[in-house]
Amino acid sequence: MTIQSVNPRTGEKFGTLIPETTPAELEAKIALSLESFQTWSTLPPALRAKSLHAIAEKLQANSTELADIADLETNLGKVRLIGEVSRTSFQLHQFAYALESGDFISPVIDSAVDAPLPQGHPELIRTQTPIGVVAVFGASNFPFAFSVLGGDTASALAAGCTVIVKSHPAHPQTSVRTYKLATEALLEVGAPMGTLGLINGVESGRMLLEDGRISAGAFTGSRQGGRALFDISNKRATPIPFYGELGSVNPVVVLASALDDPKGFVAGYLDSLLLGNGQFCTNPSLLFVPVDLSLENEIESQLADRVPSTFLSEATKMLHDKNREALRALITPKILAGQKIGEVGFYSSPTVFLSRISDLQGKESALSIECFGPTGLVLTYKTVFEVTDLISRMEGALVASVFGKVDDTQAPIVVRTLAKKVGRVAWNAWPTGVAVATGQQHGGPYPASTSPLHTSVGTWAITRFLRPITFQSLPSALFNLVATNIEKS
Ligand code: NAP
Repeated sequence: MTIQSVNPRTGEKFGTLIPETTPAELEAKIALSLESFQTWSTLPPALRAKSLHAIAEKLQANSTELADIADLETNLGKVRLIGEVSRTSFQLHQFAYALESGDFISPVIDSAVDAPLPQGHPELIRTQTPIGVVAVFGASNFPFAFSVLGGDTASALAAGCTVIVKSHPAHPQTSVRTYKLATEALLEVGAPMGTLGLINGVESGRMLLEDGRISAGAFTGSRQGGRALFDISNKRATPIPFYGELGSVNPVVVLASALDDPKGFVAGYLDSLLLGNGQFCTNPSLLFVPVDLSLENEIESQLADRVPSTFLSEATKMLHDKNREALRALITPKILAGQKIGEVGFYSSPTVFLSRISDLQGKESALSIECFGPTGLVLTYKTVFEVTDLISRMEGALVASVFGKVDDTQAPIVVRTLAKKVGRVAWNAWPTGVAVATGQQHGGPYPASTSPLHTSVGTWAITRFLRPITFQSLPSALFNLVATNIEKS
């Protein structure tokens, strides 16, 4: 079996045939990764940082070539893709800086207490150790930032884990080229051969996760796929942590105090909704608007000028169209539409569904229908309690936004309600755009994430791949040989 790139503009296949990984090749890759883990995991953090800087620089130096390849496969546009390479490179540097400054290792040294129990105890040093070989499933919608060298890979490598990436079939050539550049960079700085591995094909991805030598999994994608892989991770003889980021139904609440500039607001809404053809996990898919603000005409006239863009793959388009139809049939909304689609390629017209919250009575399951693409749902409300009541019955989400004035007495009620449901609440800002920073939380209650205690973006992502361990009364000579991240005098 082989994988081939598909041009989303035309639906035509192109480029070299990339063979799916065979079971024998997979076996060799896992064995090499495990062997490399013995070295990579015990390197001083500064040396791992040097490797991450080297990969970041290699990526950046080849950003134009990478963006050209990815643009043919995704049609995300060269400007966006060059920006995404820079973000990916920045992300790798950020993890390297965190290693250099000793962040996220933070050993707790609890000196011996010579006293009767329960106060008395031996010397305890609580620190972290890399969890092992990590399986990463690249996402379709970020061919760089959530793919071969994306945040999952960068954070796992920084933690001292080796990584095997299952490439996404929507950008196979981009994945292979990125992997080759990363391997070159790693070898140039003397990192072990199997620090990073790449496999292709859905079956090899499943076999990878089932293998007893894999210690954790990371994923961004569909709820169905993520859940299937999460279940594999849990059903293994030795269950492992699986960090899946699955959902993209994110609520945005507009308070009556917000709208000084309805035209500008609607332009911002449509820009965010249609960014990357709506294929963002932070998409503002659900907009709550006070009924008397009547944004309907403004949305209708601005949407009419918006042109369709392509989906990443035929499968993504088919799923979007199917879910959009299911949502339409369930809630029978008023339909506002953008410009019509062409004859070829993976397109769908930008669409906004409009309904009243009160009309959703008994149809709340509509809020779990993910239309991953250029589709938004606008729900009008009479009182803010209608909104908070509905949100408190919604599933978890990655992010929410609130638009209003700081002295609006309804603001704290809405923010508090949202904070119980999501991983990030943005104030007067659209949810798209996730900064790679230490303060970031990208992950929320299920289905936003299979592990709401963790983030997949920002430097805290490293903690997903560090297992806590306590060394009790270990003599200094021995301790300094086994713990590479701290010295005991
Ligand atoms: P996906 O279908 O979940 O696939 C993601 C990765 O997981 C792919 O490498 C896929 O392999 C693998 N995979 C999925 N199900 C699997 C299974 N049962 N066993 C083994 N491997 C499996 O996601 P996608 O292709 O990126 O996009 C499809 C849909 O996911 C979108 O339409 C959208 O609804 C959602 N999505 C969500 C986000 C988000 O951030 N929340 C991001 C992207 C996509 P193969 O492709 O080789 O089968």
